[in-house]
Amino acid sequence: MSQKEKSSQAGDAYRMPDLHSVFEARTRIEKMIWETPLIDSPAVARESGAAEVVLKLESLQNTGAFKVRGAANKILGLSDEDRARGVITFSTGNHGKAVSFVSGHSGIKAVVCLSEHVPAYRVEKIRELGAEVEVKGHSQDEAEEHYYHLMESRGMIPVVPFDDPAIVAGQGTIALEILQRRPDLDMLLVPLSGGGLLAGIAMAAKSINPKISVVGVSIDRSPAMLESIKAGRPVAVEEKDTLADSLLGGIGKENHYTLPLIQKYVDEHVRITEPEIEKAMAYAFTQHSLVVEGASAVGIAALQSGKVNAGGKKVAPVISGSSVDPAAFLKVVQKHVK
Ligand SMILES: *Cc1c(COP(=O)(O)O)cnc(C)c1O
Repeated sequence: MSQKEKSSQAGDAYRMPDLHSVFEARTRIEKMIWETPLIDSPAVARESGAAEVVLKLESLQNTGAFKVRGAANKILGLSDEDRARGVITFSTGNHGKAVSFVSGHSGIKAVVCLSEHVPAYRVEKIRELGAEVEVKGHSQDEAEEHYYHLMESRGMIPVVPFDDPAIVAGQGTIALEILQRRPDLDMLLVPLSGGGLLAGIAMAAKSINPKISVVGVSIDRSPAMLESIKAGRPVAVEEKDTLADSLLGGIGKENHYTLPLIQKYVDEHVRITEPEIEKAMAYAFTQHSLVVEGASAVGIAALQSGKVNAGGKKVAPVISGSSVDPAAFLKVVQKHVK
């Protein structure tokens, strides 16, 4: 273990985001985001035995996913000098879109590095929002290498997808919106990959109401955070094809924020399989006319599959995004809707 990692585990070298930083984030990002709706899902409530299920629709957020909250909090919080240098990121999609959107709207130069495997429809969306797109490398790791190279050679400011206090605090604003409207909820269900979304929501929700239960929902095919929690340090997992492609990827070799926050604030974890994701996506479409991507259907899947005990509780799954390849989406719907 490096010296840096040791000190992060001791918790003294890195300032953890707290509820105060989430309230600051809410004010900072106000003009860049929508307060997204909470809608009733009596059908999912019936299936799971929950007293009530309300869906938090971040799939209707600007750019089609919640990631714009964290990106806006990070970028709008930069000094004038840093803004002038421009920002850079690498991303499988939604984070890249968010960085492109926020930079485009604030007149800040942005570069987004992607691997050759990122689907073409995602690459185009990022470009449309204003960022310069660099497609290079056969894997995420190679795209990341190119990103480090450009960051140094051009002197740009990195905006990482999850392991940053400003990103975590930005995603935490979702908890403020949910609990302001529904302080009586018993449980929140949150999709989990790198953990910015879950860490922010869990920290904020538990700081407001220590009795609320926060559940992380991972995919069976790539549960990097769960393996890392088990090992007590960041570990990499093999990446396999999944409908929930926004949940792929590791938690970073030197994770400083999301792993410790999730260890501290999250009550329970569940793992969802591919057939369960498909079923939940089709269900969101038939019951609510909602187009959701695989990653954002996992909360519904956790309830439908009975993997989380929701009996008699008031539960809110966070529906995190809607970026789905239209052809892949139609295939799922055709398979499940007769
Ligand atoms: C990024 C993303 C997630 C996971 O967020 P993390 O902060 O990486 O855990 C979930 N759903 C969607 C749609 C995303 O884009």
